[in-house]
Amino acid sequence: MNIILFGPPGAGKGTQAKYLVKKLNGYQISTGDILREEIKKNTDIGKKIINNMNDGKFVSDHIVNSILKSHIFDHNKKEKLIFDGYPRSLSQAKNLDLLLNDSNQKIDHIFFLNVNKETIVERIKKRKILEKRSDDDLDTILKRYDAYIETTRPVLDYYSKNLNFHEIDGSMEIHEITSKIEAFLNV
Ligand code: AMP
Repeated sequence: MNIILFGPPGAGKGTQAKYLVKKLNGYQISTGDILREEIKKNTDIGKKIINNMNDGKFVSDHIVNSILKSHIFDHNKKEKLIFDGYPRSLSQAKNLDLLLNDSNQKIDHIFFLNVNKETIVERIKKRKILEKRSDDDLDTILKRYDAYIETTRPVLDYYSKNLNFHEIDGSMEIHEITSKIEAFLNV
């Protein structure tokens, strides 16, 4: 089963993805985590993306799409993909469809965790203290939110007509969101 967790930064996609990984024996494809790891290891990719990431801007499609491709074509991960933070634009959504098609896969469920801006700002301020992410300061949070509204939210139109699209109130407690997701998955 392949799943997309969709929503603004701070919606709880990562938390739910980690839960689903355990429950379904799946693989979390968090482009944000993968990119942060590149920066931590100071790789060539890491050096290219550090400024964009710290500024709350998107990393180029070229880099993100090539990272994604390696995971989609990984036989061990086939039908066990849990996307968190991808796609973030219409062109990424279309790229994902192509890659899934080429690897004989499809998306089984899309969960949209809907949260308002005020809740996001409060949550990310707390996360900044816990995780010390360099892109979690207030200025950058607001830029990331703007990027979401401008470029990512329009992807909803692309997905929302699908029967497997489910909108969930992301301001609920973590366990309540998990229960809603489980109900749709029948697990
Ligand atoms: P996240 O951990 O999902 O909040 O992502 C953190 C940052 O990584 C974003 O603000 C972007 O700079 C970058 N990033 C993550 N996923 C993508 C993506 N699909 N496309 C472009 N940039 C991304």
